[in-house]
Amino acid sequence: MRAAPLPALFGRPVRRIHCLGAGGMGMAPLAIFLAQTGFAVSGEDDALPGEVRSLLEQARVAIASLPAEADLVVYSSAISREHPAYAAAAARGWSLVRRGELLAEIARGRRLVAVCGAHGKTTTTAMLITALRAADFPAGYILGGLFEDGAPPARAGSNEWLVAEVDESDGTIDGFSPEITVAVNLDWDHPDHYRRAEDLDAAFAALFARTTGRVLVSDACARSLRVAAGRAVETFGRTGDFSGEIAGETPEGITLRLGGRFGSLDAAVRAQGDFNAANATAALAAAQAMGVPPAQNALAKFPGVRRRQSLLLAAGGLTVLEDYAHHPTEIRALLGSLRRRAGAKGRVVVVFQPHRYSRTAQFKAEFAAALALADRLYLLDVYAAGEPILAGGTTADIYAEIKRGAAAVPVSYLPGGGADLFRALSREARAGDIVAFVGAGDIDQQARAWLADGEAARAAARRWDDFAAELKPLLSPGAKLGREELLARKTTLGVGGAARIYAEPATVDDLRAVLRAAAARGAPIFMLGRGSNLIVPDEGVDGVVISLAHASWSQCEAREDGSLRAGAGLRLKQLCGIAAKAGLAGFEFLEGIPGSVGGALRMNAGAMGGWMFDVVEAVELMTPAGEAVTLRKAEMHVAYRQCAELHQAIALAAVLRPPAQSDAAAIGRQLDVYRRERHETQPREPSAGCIFRNPPGGSAGKLIEESGLKGERVGDAEVSPVHANFIINRGAATSTEVLELVRRVRAQVRRASGVVLEPEVLLYGKKWEEVL
Ligand code: FAD
Repeated sequence: MRAAPLPALFGRPVRRIHCLGAGGMGMAPLAIFLAQTGFAVSGEDDALPGEVRSLLEQARVAIASLPAEADLVVYSSAISREHPAYAAAAARGWSLVRRGELLAEIARGRRLVAVCGAHGKTTTTAMLITALRAADFPAGYILGGLFEDGAPPARAGSNEWLVAEVDESDGTIDGFSPEITVAVNLDWDHPDHYRRAEDLDAAFAALFARTTGRVLVSDACARSLRVAAGRAVETFGRTGDFSGEIAGETPEGITLRLGGRFGSLDAAVRAQGDFNAANATAALAAAQAMGVPPAQNALAKFPGVRRRQSLLLAAGGLTVLEDYAHHPTEIRALLGSLRRRAGAKGRVVVVFQPHRYSRTAQFKAEFAAALALADRLYLLDVYAAGEPILAGGTTADIYAEIKRGAAAVPVSYLPGGGADLFRALSREARAGDIVAFVGAGDIDQQARAWLADGEAARAAARRWDDFAAELKPLLSPGAKLGREELLARKTTLGVGGAARIYAEPATVDDLRAVLRAAAARGAPIFMLGRGSNLIVPDEGVDGVVISLAHASWSQCEAREDGSLRAGAGLRLKQLCGIAAKAGLAGFEFLEGIPGSVGGALRMNAGAMGGWMFDVVEAVELMTPAGEAVTLRKAEMHVAYRQCAELHQAIALAAVLRPPAQSDAAAIGRQLDVYRRERHETQPREPSAGCIFRNPPGGSAGKLIEESGLKGERVGDAEVSPVHANFIINRGAATSTEVLELVRRVRAQVRRASGVVLEPEVLLYGKKWEEVL
């Protein structure tokens, strides 16, 4: 038996084709098409999503690294020339072609319908394929995405037609000469390839000119009409919002009626928005131009396209979806439609992962403006897609643009997403909200991971609820117990999220009950004083936060032996006042430190040459096991801003011994001197005191000032122009912003002076190593 002749490509026989980047949405459908057409196809990818792998395997595409022999190697635009597989193929002298070049070659022998344009070509192509399938029209097709229902994204077909998306991103568009071109809309993108918008327009104008049959453009896209000038084109109309039925005008003026039976909820989601209505009209107009008669309900079975408003969850009033939008125009359209959908009460919470540094650099201002349509925004690092990092094209640049803009969308920058993002979202999202994961990188995986994580988070929330329910009856009526209590207002800096459990015990027994219940459940304990030395992370604190804010902990009594017994909840300011009134000198250095006695003991707070343990005789404390103990100063280990015993135990009260007796007026004068000094040298805006410890023999404030950082700002967090070792909150700072500024200051001081500053302020519930 004679073997079938090999199909010829690029003028020579080709049988074995290997695909580099086979998991991508450009390459996978092409690989499937090639396999169906009779080529022996293999492919590889550094990250192959499970569902793409199974589609490839079903089509008999072998998943393998570079084979011993291949007639042709095709590579995606995400594969750089340095990629080991590319380099190995080149070293063997094999012919390497770009994906777009191979697609153009395949299309040469067929009647090509090219769907092109900036936004919506995959959706339009998918709708066109749906209409062709509904009419049993056996055209071949290659989609640039995946159908939601898992149907193969490519088909060899049995007539002469081929429907394919033609991608303009890498210049391979120049190789196509379609019979029908559908331009969904034109917009400037891919600045890495087209340095000016006019260069891209010229590429489209040339494609229109090469089109042998009909060119269909949207009459709502002025740019398309301008680019098409001089070439006969037909226009399709924008049909307006989808509302059960879409009416579309064909080029011949025939009105098409599209059925509104999108049926399931997720299809209804996808059908929302002006863009999709225009896409549907374009698809039907193209089908008719191919000779498919207009039909009722041609799109009724449109399954939707993956990553186009893909609904991931609709439960408990919460909607979670992910979308491929990665250009400002797409984001504006998406958020506009989500905003309408969320209504007056619901919020649109957006997680955005920019795609490519070059696009981010070009459009950062437009991204910022479009993203401002969200009610709450989380930004992740740029998905590089093989590009090297580009100054001015990072997420920090979008972030800075947003902060510069007039619209005040609350925004957090969580570079890698993951656990930090999941925690923040789980805290943020509430019934009525739409949470949208937006971007063309791997953000869809983050969305799915969050939902998986959400299950775990919900289970954790239930455990905290049980804990609170169990603890409540053990506490006295004066005690306070809360779930998800916001901590920002309980700190002097005013940033951060909530405590999973918050307790204000009223008695020693209450405190013991909280400690024992926490120990039994293995829940971590965090003491909170006046919150003047803390940065609370935006995602809050996973544990039990205990505050001695109840009045019973603020007692201060003068004892017969001349000492003072001060409760740990007493404010240092009150302590200074009481001591001054009683003529007890030696506490004046504490004036102006906005902490409590407990916090000052734990931090061994100090100023003006003195520190807390100068005046301490003994400390009454409670161990984590609930045991009350009194330790004399000699038994304790104290150092600069440290008291080792209070890392675990809780200070209940301190016995203070005034070093000297003096008259109230003299003490008052000394207090005034210190007060004035602070007034002149420290900022009045909210802060957490000094951020960094002074390095041995030096001053952190001086180093920061000398590095030119006074006034440096990230969002509403600013290095104080008054004292450079203070970060102040200008109003709406987030913890993310403060931490970014801490990192920036530290890096700049290190660069300028070689000194590595270490934080003095505490990061509540976390270790500094985790964020620095
Ligand atoms: P928090 O900030 O609430 O907590 C600090 C630490 O103490 C945490 O680890 C917490 O868990 C622990 N803690 C709180 N209560 C207890 C307790 N009862 N038992 C055990 N542990 C506990 N600090 C100085 O040293 N010198 C200064 O001159 C100074 N000036 C400042 C100026 C400003 C404007 C600001 C905002 C801060 C300043 N600080 C200064 C920092 C801060 O005020 C001190 O560290 C203060 O002692 C913290 O007390 P707090 O009650 O606010 O503790």
